[in-house]
Amino acid sequence: MANRLIYDLDLLELKETLASWGEPGYRAAQIWQGLYQQLWASPDEFTALPRSLRAKLEGSFSFSSLRPSIILESKDGETRKTLFHLPDDRPIEAVLMRYATRRTLCISSQSGCAMGCVFCATGQMGFGRNLTSGEIVAQVLYYARQLQAQGETVSNIVVMGMGEPFHNYEATMAAIDRLNHPEGFNLGARRFTISTVGLVPGIKRFTAERRQVNLAVSLHAADDDLRASLLPVNRRYPLDEVLAACREYVEQTRRRITFEWALIQGVNDTPEQAQKLARRLKGMLTHVNVIPLNPTTRYPGAPTTRQRADAFQAELERHGIPCSIRLRRGIDIQAGCGQLAGQNNSAATR
Ligand code: SAH
Ligand code: SF4
Repeated sequence: MANRLIYDLDLLELKETLASWGEPGYRAAQIWQGLYQQLWASPDEFTALPRSLRAKLEGSFSFSSLRPSIILESKDGETRKTLFHLPDDRPIEAVLMRYATRRTLCISSQSGCAMGCVFCATGQMGFGRNLTSGEIVAQVLYYARQLQAQGETVSNIVVMGMGEPFHNYEATMAAIDRLNHPEGFNLGARRFTISTVGLVPGIKRFTAERRQVNLAVSLHAADDDLRASLLPVNRRYPLDEVLAACREYVEQTRRRITFEWALIQGVNDTPEQAQKLARRLKGMLTHVNVIPLNPTTRYPGAPTTRQRADAFQAELERHGIPCSIRLRRGIDIQAGCGQLAGQNNSAATR
């Protein structure tokens, strides 16, 4: 059997492992800092450790789980997307986006996705498997090392790559906890955003855990018929239930919730949809992010025009719902969720 990925361990497990090897108590913290502060990628770099311990680490754990296979940089150099393969060859993607001062990573929680949203390249691929917490963490460390070489650091993380994070709840939260750890990577909880398709039990659990992590929910439609035609999961968790859980989240945590909406020409970019949405969100501490659809091969819908996106935003704001129009980052490098892997997949099976 393959060795366990070192990034799958939390600090306590690392401590227990080292204690069982008869190592002094301070070693675990030293290795933890090596992994998450110095960003060492292999035991060779742990030069402060005795050679025998390095060899033992090397022999007991795996230090690399991601094999980058395609790296694409947008023309403006602001967005870099990497297609990785896991040890079992499953694909995942992670994207680095540079904004003025922010360095935001978009990471995956699963290879593929079981939710089948019709316009999503990952949904079109189907489900591969859940990532382990260490495989989620490894995507962040991969980019953190690249940024470190330029004297930069990761400032924000969005779990909006491949997969549905609430369908892999434990591993996703364990990864965030690991990256949030004050003695390690130490990225503040508020710097994370989780995006969910609207799995109601996940939203409820997240609310109960009172985390400081930001929550975004993908709506895309303001009535059940239209939403179910785009997001099959709406048949299981209809809008009323999703929005009741969202209201509960806002009331319990007093945190603003974000709703995501991919604008599809003539489908969900109408004034009627904007009005229905405004009615549903009335009085909620919220913000709507609209983004013109990223076209994918297996969905015929087209992105909305700028004019219609502006009108949609204006309609929401007229009803007192804050709304921003997102730029499509990295459109020239298929930085949309799952697009690169999906494309690669179809090329491989052709
Ligand atoms: N599974 C989660 C997170 C990953 S998808 C979720 O669905 O929320 C991240 C966001 O990208 C979601 O809002 C999703 O609806 C959106 N998305 C997927 N495919 C898209 C496309 N082709 N164009 C625009 N947005 C898309
Ligand atoms: Fe899965 Fe999100 Fe894509 Fe839907 S939009 S198929 S939930 S990754």
